[in-house]
Amino acid sequence: MDYQAILESIYEDIQPYLSQGKVATYIPALANADTNSFAMSLNLLDGRSFHVGQTQKLFSIQSISKVFTFTLALQRYDKELEKFVGHEPSGNPFNSLVQLEYERGIARNPFINAGAITITDLLTSANKEVFEEILSFIRTISHDESITYDPNIAQSEAKSAYRNYALINMMKSFETIKNPIEMVMDTYFKQCSIMMNTEQLSKSMLFLANHGIDPISNKSYVDISRAKRIQALMLTCGHYDASGDFAFRVGLPGKSGVGGGIVATMPNHFSVCVYSPALNANGNSLAGTKALELLTTKTGLSIF
Ligand code: GLN
Repeated sequence: MDYQAILESIYEDIQPYLSQGKVATYIPALANADTNSFAMSLNLLDGRSFHVGQTQKLFSIQSISKVFTFTLALQRYDKELEKFVGHEPSGNPFNSLVQLEYERGIARNPFINAGAITITDLLTSANKEVFEEILSFIRTISHDESITYDPNIAQSEAKSAYRNYALINMMKSFETIKNPIEMVMDTYFKQCSIMMNTEQLSKSMLFLANHGIDPISNKSYVDISRAKRIQALMLTCGHYDASGDFAFRVGLPGKSGVGGGIVATMPNHFSVCVYSPALNANGNSLAGTKALELLTTKTGLSIF
């Protein structure tokens, strides 16, 4: 398969879609992103990689960080985790409050904000310096020690995070959050503002595409059944209330972030990351989703 030619043809095909979405403005620091930017990187398990567009351009990973924190929480809590956060799609936007009250402060899944904040709280209970642990894990699986976060983006989000504060306050009232609110939110904003490019993010997903074992270092990060669970949740919950639509169009486990990134895996074959900052109505990269749809169509590879 000529992956490079496929990526190049996708790059041409998505041009008309770049201007169709809207960048996230509820985090002021994201509002000025250049909607012409596009990048796509694909890594095969055998070590080869293919790239098109601005694949060195750093962007904040936002909710893609939830895959990394969920992985760390599964390593630490395993089946216990099910007591604290569910594994069903919410059918609601990523920052929705409605379900959380009638489900008594237990978030539906780790990829909506309430669930991700719960996961960050659980990790904080085990390690007060948890942000260092998250960053170090991301650096290790990306094979890149230069990865860091952008304090301006973290601060910008903190200043306007009314909904996230509403979510954590609601959970605190149900006593499902154990640590001080400011401590948890500080880590959450930092993890969302970690800056990566598509080359780093695609590489970071290789262990999931390979049943939990990083094919570069041969190191195992999760066992085969946890790798299955993480990717099952990416498929069913990774795009919030558009997860069904993403599965329908793309057919791969994927996780989006409002910074414009989407990561996806094709188990036994490849990991991929696409970046385009203009989002659709569900907060997922519009041209990025289209690019992944074209990828599975042109390669004939999806999990189905
Ligand atoms: N930091 C963002 C938020 O909490 C992440 C949301 C996202 O990427 N969907 O609102």
